[in-house]
Amino acid sequence: MKAQLKIRTCPTCGSGGIKKVKKDWKGEYQGKKYSVPSLSFYECPDCDERVYDRDAMRRIEEKSPALGKAYRKKAA
Ligand SMILES: [Zn+2]
Repeated sequence: MKAQLKIRTCPTCGSGGIKKVKKDWKGEYQGKKYSVPSLSFYECPDCDERVYDRDAMRRIEEKSPALGKAYRKKAA
């Protein structure tokens, strides 16, 4: 098992203020809005950069309208 992704500085602006947050995440894909409740990800207060670890990415993908169709097809 690999260690959990740890980020101390923002990859975009180099700020040390980036920190892990847990909140409702809202996204948009081709005009369709979707959200992921209580998502953990890193957020930079200086440039609004967001960094997602694998778990966060997976949860976003599960909610994404772009991929949701494929998931539903597989389940059917
Ligand atoms: Zn930043």
